[in-house]
Amino acid sequence: MFFIGQTYAQRRIQNTKGKVNILPPAIVVLCLCGAVDVEWWRIVNNLPPIMSRHHCPYCVYAHTWSVRRHARKCTRCRREWVPSRYLVHGVRADERAWKVFLTCFLRYRTVEGVRLHTHQSRPTILKMSALVRTAMADDVPEVLQGTVEVDETYIGPQWRNRRWVERKRGTKKGRGTEKQAVFGIRERARGIVRTFLVPNVQKRTLMALMLRHIERGSTIYSDAYQLYQETPKEGYVHDFVDHKQHEYGRGDVHSNGMEGFWGVLKRRLKTTGGIKRDRLSVYVAEETWRYNNRTLSETEKINRLITFLKVFGG
Ligand SMILES: [Zn+2]
Repeated sequence: MFFIGQTYAQRRIQNTKGKVNILPPAIVVLCLCGAVDVEWWRIVNNLPPIMSRHHCPYCVYAHTWSVRRHARKCTRCRREWVPSRYLVHGVRADERAWKVFLTCFLRYRTVEGVRLHTHQSRPTILKMSALVRTAMADDVPEVLQGTVEVDETYIGPQWRNRRWVERKRGTKKGRGTEKQAVFGIRERARGIVRTFLVPNVQKRTLMALMLRHIERGSTIYSDAYQLYQETPKEGYVHDFVDHKQHEYGRGDVHSNGMEGFWGVLKRRLKTTGGIKRDRLSVYVAEETWRYNNRTLSETEKINRLITFLKVFGG
């Protein structure tokens, strides 16, 4: 099962030793249905930001003096900084630096690629990437309505690349596989998706997600999976296509929008060359955000992310 994020105290213990270490967007909320929902840990746990303006951005020490008008000084490492200059506390980058970074990030530059354009260090860039992905995971539509498509897929390494012992053991294809299941809902009118990493694709899990994130009375299009047949009982209009009968679209009835997104997602994830399983949720959230905001211009995307990042500032 997925990890549940550490408590704030545990993080603080890690952080006070040596380097500044903003942990990945680790708070993953387990819904009642067991689905993994990436939410922003700070809101979820009602906790203070990982570093407030009173924390030293160099050594994450909480005791500081106020020196001069805007500056603060750490009582431990005796270094000074001006909190108001930084967009997100604990990351020594002002708004201009963040914008340059975001431009590179949105163009899929590597860390070394970003370093050519900014004067940030490698750890800082990694920290910034983690923060941006957290912001992206947070920026999702809550409820989808109208005509929606639902579908699941499985993400994981290809079997031909696994060790021989594992390969020999084998696994099922499609439903029943050992890969990570991802459930997706796509609203047609706005062309946006929501994705969830789910522990299984049982009725209990998926129905709870649909009830929570699809407005009652909406029209659901899906494939012929048994549990979707029960959606009319919950107050939805339902129709489906049967892939086994080689039926992939009947007029308006299809889930090809969702299938299209899976295609985009898998191709993008491939380019990263392997993702740890506990970080997968964040990368899926990133690609979901990129897909949902694909119509925005680069400037609009950057401004949107900046407004989300400012909330981290605390
Ligand atoms: Zn310090």
